[in-house]
Amino acid sequence: NNQIKVAIVGYGNLGRGVELSILKNPDMSLVAVFSRRDPKSVTTINTPVYSLDNILDFKEKIDVLILCGGSKDDLPIQGPKYAEYFNVVDSYDNHAEIPAYFASVDKSCQKNKTIGMISIGWDPGMFSINRIYGEALLPDGDTYTFWGKGLSQGHSDAIRRVEGVKAGVQYTIPSNEAIEKVRSGIRPNLTTKQKHARECFIVLKDGADAKKVENEIKTMPNYFEPYDTTVNFISQEEFDKNHNTMPHGGFVIRSGKSSDNVNQVIEYALKLDSNPEFTASVLVAYARATYRMSKKGEFGAKTVFDVAPILLSPKSSQDLIKELL
Ligand code: NDP
Repeated sequence: NNQIKVAIVGYGNLGRGVELSILKNPDMSLVAVFSRRDPKSVTTINTPVYSLDNILDFKEKIDVLILCGGSKDDLPIQGPKYAEYFNVVDSYDNHAEIPAYFASVDKSCQKNKTIGMISIGWDPGMFSINRIYGEALLPDGDTYTFWGKGLSQGHSDAIRRVEGVKAGVQYTIPSNEAIEKVRSGIRPNLTTKQKHARECFIVLKDGADAKKVENEIKTMPNYFEPYDTTVNFISQEEFDKNHNTMPHGGFVIRSGKSSDNVNQVIEYALKLDSNPEFTASVLVAYARATYRMSKKGEFGAKTVFDVAPILLSPKSSQDLIKELL
């Protein structure tokens, strides 16, 4: 069997997405899910679950480990820890901390010559690739990133902490007006408020004061105060029916000039029904590349910037040249 042998560490939304994505990639097989929880309490689609404590017993059985823990508390520990023994791929997305995280994973990779493929997904990830292409191809230009329409986990958590809120979600919405301005090639200076709006859907607790809740949300520093925020109050039934998925997406636009009066605009857009399933699909393609780079003797921490596109595809070089070039 010459399938690439993959395992998952951490089984939440992203872990489940990786399990689904492997099913679409016949050159790869999923050998195990590792969890910190009691394996009996973790229900996968059809992959065996083991305690993370025993992961080193599987060293010879795994080509690439996909780390699906959270960026805030899990990956800063799990990334450097497992990169010492395995080729790892993760979706670390705390942008400000990426350089420090890269350095700590790289240090671990040097010990046994493994690869630590970090910050894979869509942002960071596919959006980063589009930003680097945009800048390199149109050095005289500006890059704009818009997010949404999408569910923001952090902002949803913040509204759920407001007194009187029973359930709530927050969507980030890119401003059409701002996007059209950018597309026109005029390279506008846009403030935070001009680029995105925030929309909340709230189920109130019995007896809660709607006006007070709305005011507390709209004036919340950093989270909502700098934005145009709309607060909608809905029933629990409507909430359960219409707000149970995790859509996301966005745009990366590079607007530049190749000579004095010649505008060039590049646009990359994502419209995702499920943020974790798409992020997982990107992780799996990069697990294939990680395996191949490791086979060639490469090691150390890497990012999307280090991976040639040909390594992501299961197809042969000849087929790719014939079909896609
Ligand atoms: P989850 O909160 O669903 O899962 C995180 C971890 O929590 C899991 O690995 C799991 O570890 C544990 N866990 C999951 N479910 C439960 C449960 N019911 N009870 C107790 N523990 C549980 O996070 P997501 O999968 O949604 O996201 C993971 C990370 O992905 C995010 O933090 C984000 O940083 C990143 N991400 C990156 C993107 C990008 O574009 N780069 C895009 C989207 C997300 P264990 O099994 O060990 O208990």
